[in-house]
Amino acid sequence: MTKISLEFPDGSKREFNEGVTPLEVAASIGNSLKKSAVAAKVNDFLVDIERPIVQNAKIEIITKKDNEAVEVQRNTAVFLMGAALQQKYPEIRFGERQINNDGFYLDTDKDETQVSVDELEDIMEQMQQIIQSNPQIERKLMDKEDLMQKFSDDPYKSALISAFDSVQIPVYQMGDYLDFGEKALLPQLKDLKYYKLLSVAGAYWQGKSSNPMLQRIYGTAFLNEEDLQADLKRRAEIKERDHRTIGRDLDLFFVDPKVGAGLAYWMPKGATIRRVLERYIIDKEVAAGYEHVYTPILMNLNAYKTSGHWEHYREDMFPPMDMGEGEMLELRPMNCPSHIEIYKHHIHSYRELPIRIAELGMMHRYEKSGALSGLQRVREMTLNDGHTFVALDQIEDEFKKVLQLMMDVYRDFDIDNYTFRLSYRDPANTEKYFDDDEMWNKSQGMLKSAMDDMGLDYYEAEGEAAFYGPKLDVQTKTALGNEETLSTIQLDFMQPERFKLTYVGEDGKEHRPVMIHRGIVSTMERFIAYLMEMYKGAFPTWLAPIQAVIIPVKNDLHLDYAQKLQADMRKLGLRVNIDSRNEKMNYKIREAQTQKIPYTVVIGDQEVNDATVSVRKYGEQDSVQEDISMFVDSVVADVKNYSRT
Ligand code: ATP
Ligand code: ZN
Repeated sequence: MTKISLEFPDGSKREFNEGVTPLEVAASIGNSLKKSAVAAKVNDFLVDIERPIVQNAKIEIITKKDNEAVEVQRNTAVFLMGAALQQKYPEIRFGERQINNDGFYLDTDKDETQVSVDELEDIMEQMQQIIQSNPQIERKLMDKEDLMQKFSDDPYKSALISAFDSVQIPVYQMGDYLDFGEKALLPQLKDLKYYKLLSVAGAYWQGKSSNPMLQRIYGTAFLNEEDLQADLKRRAEIKERDHRTIGRDLDLFFVDPKVGAGLAYWMPKGATIRRVLERYIIDKEVAAGYEHVYTPILMNLNAYKTSGHWEHYREDMFPPMDMGEGEMLELRPMNCPSHIEIYKHHIHSYRELPIRIAELGMMHRYEKSGALSGLQRVREMTLNDGHTFVALDQIEDEFKKVLQLMMDVYRDFDIDNYTFRLSYRDPANTEKYFDDDEMWNKSQGMLKSAMDDMGLDYYEAEGEAAFYGPKLDVQTKTALGNEETLSTIQLDFMQPERFKLTYVGEDGKEHRPVMIHRGIVSTMERFIAYLMEMYKGAFPTWLAPIQAVIIPVKNDLHLDYAQKLQADMRKLGLRVNIDSRNEKMNYKIREAQTQKIPYTVVIGDQEVNDATVSVRKYGEQDSVQEDISMFVDSVVADVKNYSRT
C-alpha cells in the first residue's frame, strides 16, 4: 500500500496509508480526539471527516469547539434543510447554496407556489424529526458522468454538476436524498442543535434577471445557544431599523417587482415627508442664490452623445426609444445636459457668474436588479440637483459655499454620522474616465486643497469619480451596514468643453466656465431612506407625516371641541388627525405610539371646561395638562426650529 506523509500543526510528520480519512488520523492520535473531531483542514482547505486523503499534505483536525466548526454546522444545516424540503415537497428543485459569515442560504424552486416564510417553522420541525431518526449519511465519490445522467432532467443540478472540473465528485447520501460538492458535514446529525431558518427572498437563477426567479431560503447555525441568541437579537435590531421594515409598518412607500423593480410608490404619508423635504431644500437653495427650473425627463439621445454619457455611462442607462425617422429619445440618467441647455439659452457675462441652476430632477438609471434595495437604490429617482457655472477663479469659493450649505442642512436634520470621501478617477480605467491627465490632476488637486484649507478630514478613493470629474462624496452607513453616498459635490471641466459653453469676460472675449454638480440632500429616495433609519421611523415634528392625533374621550361630548382644535391647527399648517373610531382609548393611544406620532392629545370633560389639552409626547410615559394655546404655540415652534422632539 502506498504511504503518504501528513504534517501536523506543531510541524511533526507521520506516515499513513494513502486514502486515510481525517477520522482515522484523529483515532490514531487518541480516542477523545476521535470523538470530538468534526472535520479537518487539509492544506488549509476544510474537508469532510471521511474524505480520503490521497497525497502528502498538512493536516489540522477540527473539533466541535473550533471556530471552523461553525462552517461545518452551517454545511450540515443546509444539507438537512434540503433533505427536509425534499420530504415535504418531493417535486422541489435546488439551485445554488452558500455558506458565509452571516449564515447560509439555499435556492429552491417549486412548480406552483414557492416556499413561504410561514412554512419555515414546519420545515425546522421536519429537520428535527430527521435528526431524531438518526439516519446514516453515506459519503462517497461518484463519477461526474453518472451524476449528470442521474440528474439529466434537472436543469439546475445539471448546470451545477457540469461546473465541476474533476472526474469524480464527492457525494453525500441520506436515504433517497443526495447532495454533492466539496463540503464538510458533521459526523452525526444530532450534533446540529443551534440553528434557525430565518427568511425567504426571490433570487434569480445564477443572478441573471433573464433567468427564472427562485426562492432563496436563509438560515444560520452556531456552536452554542448563546451565540445563536446573540445573532438573532442583532438581526432583530437591524430589521427594526431597516427602512424597508419602517416603510411597511408606517405605510410610507412600497416597491413591487411585479409592478416594476426599483420603481417606488409613495403612499400619502411617505409623500408628505417628501413634500416637506422638497419645500425645505428649495427654500434653502433660493436663499443661497439658486434659480430653480423644470426640464423634461426625455431628451434627444444626441445630447448624451455630446455629454459623454453614451460613451461612458451607457450600462446604467435605459435603452433609447426609437421614435422613427432617426429620432432617438433617452430617459435621462442625469440632469446635467438639461441644465446646460438652460445655460446655453442666453449669452452670459462674467458679471452674472456664478450662475446656479437647480431642480428636483427626475432621472432613470438601469441599476442591476441585485443592487436594488427599497428606496436606497432605485431605478427612478428624483435628485436635489444643482449645477453651478463659475469662472476659474471662483471654483474654490463656490465649492466652500456648497459645502457650507450642505453642513447647515445636515445640522437641521441632526445628521452627524458621516465621512468625507474624495473620489478620484482610476487612471488605468480609460473606458470609464475620459482621457485628459492634465484636467484630472488639476481638478483633483483643487478639491483636495479646498478640503485642506477648510481643515476637514477626508479619505481618498481611486476609481470612485464621475466619468467627467472628481467628487467630494459624503458617505453614510445603512442599517444593514452598507456604505452609501448621500451628498456629493463634483468638479467638471469636461462638459463645458464638450458643449462649448462660454461667457463674455471683462476683456470682452469668450471664456469657458467650469461646472460644479452638486446634490445636497441626494435623491429624495435615498435621503428619506436614510432619515427613516436614522430616526428609526420617529420623524421629528417638522417632518412627521402626522404631527398630532386628537383623541376625544367620548365622541358625543368632545368631538366638536376636537374638530375645532384640529381646524385651528390646520390653519397654522399643522398636520393633525382625529381618532374618533369606536375603539378603547388605551388602544388608540398605543396605536399613536406605534405610528410614532409626535403628539397624542386627549380631550375629555376637564379639557373642554378649562380650555386645556392632555398631551403625551412620543416616547414619553406620562401626559401633561397644558393650556391649549401654549400647546399649539409649542408645536409651531418645534416645526419652525426643526426641533428633534
Ligand atoms: P452611486 O455610486 O451611489 O451609484 P453615483 O456616484 O452614480 O452614485 P451620482 O451620479 O453622483 O451617483 O448621483 C447623485 C446622488 O444620487 C448620489 O450621490 C446618491 O446619493 C444618489 N443616487 C445615485 N444613484 C441612486 C439610486 N440608484 N437610487 C437612489 N439614489 C441614488
Ligand atoms: Zn450633473
